[in-house]
Amino acid sequence: MRYDELFLYGVKQLEKAGIAEGKLNARLLLEYVCKTDRNTLLAHPELLVEKEQEKRYVNCIEQRAERIPLQHITGVQEFMGLEFYVNQNVLIPRQDTEILVEEVMPHLHDGMSILDMCTGSGCILISLMQYSNDCAGVGADLSNEALEVAEKNAQRILKEKNIHVKSGFKDLKEAVFPVQNEIRFLQGDLFEALDLGEKTAVKFDIIVSNPPYISTDAIKTLEPEVAVHEPLTALDGGQDGLYFYRRIVKDAKKCLVRGGMLFFEIGFDQKEAVSQLLKETGFIDIETKKDYAGLDRVVFGTFLED
Ligand code: GLN
Repeated sequence: MRYDELFLYGVKQLEKAGIAEGKLNARLLLEYVCKTDRNTLLAHPELLVEKEQEKRYVNCIEQRAERIPLQHITGVQEFMGLEFYVNQNVLIPRQDTEILVEEVMPHLHDGMSILDMCTGSGCILISLMQYSNDCAGVGADLSNEALEVAEKNAQRILKEKNIHVKSGFKDLKEAVFPVQNEIRFLQGDLFEALDLGEKTAVKFDIIVSNPPYISTDAIKTLEPEVAVHEPLTALDGGQDGLYFYRRIVKDAKKCLVRGGMLFFEIGFDQKEAVSQLLKETGFIDIETKKDYAGLDRVVFGTFLED
């Protein structure tokens, strides 16, 4: 079949299934299967697609029509100009989260240490390491399956920068000490992974987190791509959506250097509550940032001392 005929077939099927961006999805899947680029549809619509590829394309369209996310079919998502491997065990990196990374960047100086709490695919930490020099990174997550994805991404993306990726530490106390040009991945329930005592010797310059922040009741109102196919543990922020912010703010101050900064991604209606949490806990210079849709998306503050 011709390239453009297959494209039109895909559009029709996806629109019938109620997919909002049917044209875009049909084109991206065709490019994925045929290893072509966005120009092909315009420049070579007459291109004949091999039978084998045609079969694979039809199969991809069927999956997408069942509301399986595009990125679960192609296995990748671009974020901060880098290609991240994704699967059903991690939240697919969102464009909104690039705002969080961009807010951290001006405060991240060469050689600093960064903790990414709830690292998921690793997209935040890996981007920060990619666009800085000699930093030391630690990424923590509850899910071992997510950490496998993060590790794979870090290895592939940061290879050229000679940043070493380490995981699977037995002695957590040893594992958490950040080392320059190294990323360490730790499994645990938030700061448990850091094995904090009352006072800890582990101190970071920057802590960043995009924790699960959707209120439990709101999850069922999301599109099936998210509600059914993305990991619930990466979405569910408890009854009021603030469960993880409360826990992270409380422990973050124990492992920030004096003047260290905490950055959060937040939901559109969480600016007041999260800013208040930071204020109550002793953070100063609290600022917020909106995303490109004009919605509050990032809150950050500086910790001076207890
Ligand atoms: N930090 C990861 C991301 O931004 C995962 C976030 C999450 O699981 N809630 O994609």
